Amino acid sequence: MKNLKELFEHQLKDLYSAESQLLKALPKMAKNATDKKLKEAFEGHLNETEEQKSRLEEVCKKLGIKPGGEKCKAMEGLIKEAEDFIEEAESDDVMDAGLIAEAQRVEHYEISGYGTAVRYAKELGHKDIAKILQTTLDEEYSADEKLDKLAEGRLNKEAMA
Ligand code: FE
Ligand code: FE
Ligand code: FE
Ligand code: ZN
Repeated sequence: MKNLKELFEHQLKDLYSAESQLLKALPKMAKNATDKKLKEAFEGHLNETEEQKSRLEEVCKKLGIKPGGEKCKAMEGLIKEAEDFIEEAESDDVMDAGLIAEAQRVEHYEISGYGTAVRYAKELGHKDIAKILQTTLDEEYSADEKLDKLAEGRLNKEAMA
């Protein structure tokens, strides 16, 4: 990579790989969640993730590049960690608490990736692309916030029990 344009393209491909991997992992997280709201949150974010992947395809098309060819090793590791955790959880409470923790790691990774991508898009003068990526960034923030609320809900439930 010799300039910001190429770095930006690399970041987009990395995000594309991250979303693609997450699309395959979220159903397993939804299936293992025992709390109904948490399950719904994962299913809802699965739908959003499909749209986010399409947005990256749209952005790459605008730039005249192909979205594939890159593997996000960080997302691969985060998903592996979540899968290992699922095998290790021995109660419903632990399962849900741990799934929230793993999912928030994923959201924070995406937030930093899209935050950077939006900034690069602006720097390179792609206002339209910055706007598209910002839509996804907002969704990732909302997903993280929803998980925060569910984690707090768990605390309240435990306090009442
Ligand atoms: Fe995403
Ligand atoms: Fe990555
Ligand atoms: Fe996400
Ligand atoms: Zn957070």
